[in-house]
Amino acid sequence: MADAPASLNPAQLEAVHHLSGPCLVLAGAGSGKTRVITHKIARLLQAGLAPKEIAAITFTNKAAQEMRERSKALVGGKAARDLVVATFHSLGVRILRSDGTKVGLKEQFSILDADDVMGVLREAGGATDNKLARSWQWTISLWKNMGHDSASAATIAKDADEQVAARVMKLYEERLAAYQAVDFDDLIGLPLKLLQRDEEARTRWQAMFGHVLVDEYQDTNAVQYELLKMLVSGDDPRRRGLFTAVGDDDQSIYGWRGATIENLRRLPQDWPDLKVIPLEQNYRSTGHILRAANNVIAANPKLFEKKLWSALGDGDPVRLVECDGEEHEAERAVAFIQSLRAQGGAIADERGSGQIKFGDFAVLYRANHQARVFEQKLRAAQIPYKVSGGQSFFDRAEIKDLCAWLRLLVNQDDDPAFLRAVTTPKRGIGHATLGKLGEFSGKWKSSLFEALFSQSLAAQLGPKAIGGLHEFGRCVNELQHRAGHTRGAEEAKALLLEWLKDIGYEQHLYDSEDSEKLAASRWTNVLDFVDWIAKRCGGELSEDGSSQLREQQTVLDVAQTISVIISLAERGDDADVVTLSTLHASKGLEWPHVWLAGINEGLLPFKVDAEDMSVEVLGQRIEEERRLMYVGITRARTTLAVSTLRRRKKGRDTIQGVPSRFIAEMKLGEGGGAKEDPRERLKRLRAQLSAKVDAAAPADKA
Ligand code: ATP
Ligand code: MG
Repeated sequence: MADAPASLNPAQLEAVHHLSGPCLVLAGAGSGKTRVITHKIARLLQAGLAPKEIAAITFTNKAAQEMRERSKALVGGKAARDLVVATFHSLGVRILRSDGTKVGLKEQFSILDADDVMGVLREAGGATDNKLARSWQWTISLWKNMGHDSASAATIAKDADEQVAARVMKLYEERLAAYQAVDFDDLIGLPLKLLQRDEEARTRWQAMFGHVLVDEYQDTNAVQYELLKMLVSGDDPRRRGLFTAVGDDDQSIYGWRGATIENLRRLPQDWPDLKVIPLEQNYRSTGHILRAANNVIAANPKLFEKKLWSALGDGDPVRLVECDGEEHEAERAVAFIQSLRAQGGAIADERGSGQIKFGDFAVLYRANHQARVFEQKLRAAQIPYKVSGGQSFFDRAEIKDLCAWLRLLVNQDDDPAFLRAVTTPKRGIGHATLGKLGEFSGKWKSSLFEALFSQSLAAQLGPKAIGGLHEFGRCVNELQHRAGHTRGAEEAKALLLEWLKDIGYEQHLYDSEDSEKLAASRWTNVLDFVDWIAKRCGGELSEDGSSQLREQQTVLDVAQTISVIISLAERGDDADVVTLSTLHASKGLEWPHVWLAGINEGLLPFKVDAEDMSVEVLGQRIEEERRLMYVGITRARTTLAVSTLRRRKKGRDTIQGVPSRFIAEMKLGEGGGAKEDPRERLKRLRAQLSAKVDAAAPADKA
């Protein structure tokens, strides 16, 4: 959504015009923090900075995309294109791409996704079950986000389990180094290490940016904090400390990933001349919604006192919808969407176009699995939707197969990619052959790919096996060569299609699926993906997914950042569709009409294992869940519906649902919150009655 250049309140203006030193805008949801950032970009350009000297850092690619769009509306397409709008991760990739060799990476390195990481950990630690590997993954990632490596982790490991995790971490580090691969946490940690160690690179990067702006500052972790500090701490006094951070401690929801509100407290200590600016007017939500949000968050201890008021009037009361179960809930949400749309302009958001679109709706939930039923019911009602922040297009097996191939083109030492590519489609290379290859590469400390052409390996394997391996190697080499020389979208597409034909990928899909329909739909995904890559090669899509025209790239260029690009990419964002999203992924966004689903104990707050935790830790977990509820409520502009489940599924069982404690905390009754519609209530009671009658009747069930 574009911001009109005109309106900023005095506090926002103050933040926008403060150019001479560090600035922190600390304010509640919907108070125009992100708007400060976009307007400040315009101000900095006016003040004479070149677009490429301005870095705006956001947390997700989606937010980066929106930031670029908003800036474009303010400063025009040309300037917006050259701005450095990045996530911490994509900024990290930039730094590593230019200077990674200084921390021992070769020019072409791989970026592992979460699945690969699990695979490497399982193997490194000899875990037979995923649960154990996942717990290592979690612990190691947390350590990395706190700035630890395996050596320092070993000294802080609290118990036997953590000591094991620290040992696995060491093996994991060794493997990543051998694969020339980094994980997502490294995309922040390694650039930091690099800038700490290498003075020349440090000075160069510090001189690069005349101002750094950070949105959602409350969710930075220790490593991100240090990286940011490093970037704005150059010796040039005219450039020192020139940053603007905006955030809201009440919306800090990534504690589980190592984000720490400490960073908000540290800022004034590290920067004594920090200007702290509060914002108090909420421009997003109507009164009832804002009061419910304020009431909920009031139950958390206050770090910083903040007030929020809205001039938008009371608006509609918050609707509380009690549902029998998940299916009923999804049906009610569909009815909510349909009835609001049917009433149309009469209740359309007065700030909107006067017509209610599908894109005006979001259904938000705590856990990914909750989306499924909503998807079913929306499909049945022929309502278009997209799922964001969850299982995405890019998580599909066929897309991951192709990504593995692309990664292997970029970095042939990427063993996880090698293993996936060499076995999909099957080319008669079995476990035994791969086992031998693995042994061999282990002994010679080489990558699997490197080992493949060795003479001594050939002596150990039969001619068929070695022939298969060599053919695979040649195929990769040839493709790599050609991928580095494509020009434009058409050539890229032609190459990719030819390659898919050569490796027989379409046939592979038909061979591995029982249902032809499923195979065909997977093949369509593949073709979509090819188009998507081709568009990037043609410069029609940029790194952060925005539709800015960029330079042309070869297929190999695109392959280099594929993991990062797709990790958070969203497709078809402009379409008029209902958004299904996790609460976490909804941060920073807004919709006229929002449905918060499954607001039950065990879902939100998410199941917390009280037995495993100290009272203190338990309390902190609940506080973080409460902030998540606050984030959810404050996404809504005009209409908010909150649903609870009387019965809910838990694994295979159905259990009784208990409304979340956060429902009571909203104090809906007192603020004039809506009770259930009397007609709905009647319908529900009737349904319950007939269920009882059914139950009492002699059953002829099997
Ligand atoms: P969050 O904490 O959820 O990230 P935020 O503080 O970043 O929220 P914004 O998204 O910048 O808030 O603004 C919320 C809404 O209010 C947007 O629709 C924005 O355009 C509008 N808005 C912000 N400031 C003003 C203003 N001064 N006048 C009119 N509308 C405003
Ligand atoms: Mg914001």
